Amino acid sequence: MHEGVFRLVGRGIPSSLFRKTKMDNDTMKKDGEMQRVMFHSTIFGPIHSRRLGTSLGVNLMPSDGKVCSFDCLYCEAGFNAQGPGRSGLPKRDIVRRQLEAKLAEMQAAGTGLDVITFSGNGEPTLHPEFAGVVDDTIELRDLYFPNAKVSVLTNSTMIDREEVAKALMKVDNNILKLDSALDETVKVLDRPNRPGFSVAGTVELLKRFKGQGIIQTMMLRGVVDGIRLDNTTDEEVVALVEAYKAICPKEVMLYSLDRPTPAKGLEKIDAEELQRIGEKVERESGVKVVVSV
Ligand code: SF4
Repeated sequence: MHEGVFRLVGRGIPSSLFRKTKMDNDTMKKDGEMQRVMFHSTIFGPIHSRRLGTSLGVNLMPSDGKVCSFDCLYCEAGFNAQGPGRSGLPKRDIVRRQLEAKLAEMQAAGTGLDVITFSGNGEPTLHPEFAGVVDDTIELRDLYFPNAKVSVLTNSTMIDREEVAKALMKVDNNILKLDSALDETVKVLDRPNRPGFSVAGTVELLKRFKGQGIIQTMMLRGVVDGIRLDNTTDEEVVALVEAYKAICPKEVMLYSLDRPTPAKGLEKIDAEELQRIGEKVERESGVKVVVSV
């Protein structure tokens, strides 16, 4: 552990986030090697994102491990079971310094930038200095690329914390995950770490963004470890429509798989079907739907 990083446990990040489940152990045994984290630094890219354009990434989680309050079957960073690594979380001043260096380099090179995106090896809002990092990022964006947006991809599990909710309200694209409005589906698909997690509680908290938030829903189906999963059924779509109506977001973003998933047996929903679902959701909820393929 070197200077300038946080140790993970004892900083509001419970050790239970690092517990392996039976599926993780089985997957590791079956596959020999698990899918590993994708981002090996705090600032990464720029990369082209199909949803966001030319995007410079900010990874507030470890550069050699995964830390998240969900453990989604489709997570491109792999399962939490691979562990938090040894690097720890980057402190606010380190993030600021590295981000500024990269933005200055891109500006000098004449590289365009559409968006600075918080994502990476886990849930960014778990970082104890998330709110301060957002303030720094907005300040640096205004200085170097005033036309770029600031986006946060969050799983919505920390929005009960006042400072997290306030920080999310400051960014241009506050993108909040809601993969299903049915508890049993979220339990199997997203595998929330908090035992008291409920969709109803999350929806209630999501209402606080009052048209500023964007709800993002991953649509997929498949059979994982003998359990059938499908959040495109009528029952699922009806429940999602009700949740979207209650939340009244600025927009709903529907997408499907784009990269290999750590769990085997998941299927991508094709563009045509996703479009059909999007049109139905928009018609029935009155909320703008953007389908990303
Ligand atoms: S919430 Fe995001 S980072 Fe966390 S497990 Fe799910 S997809 Fe991965």
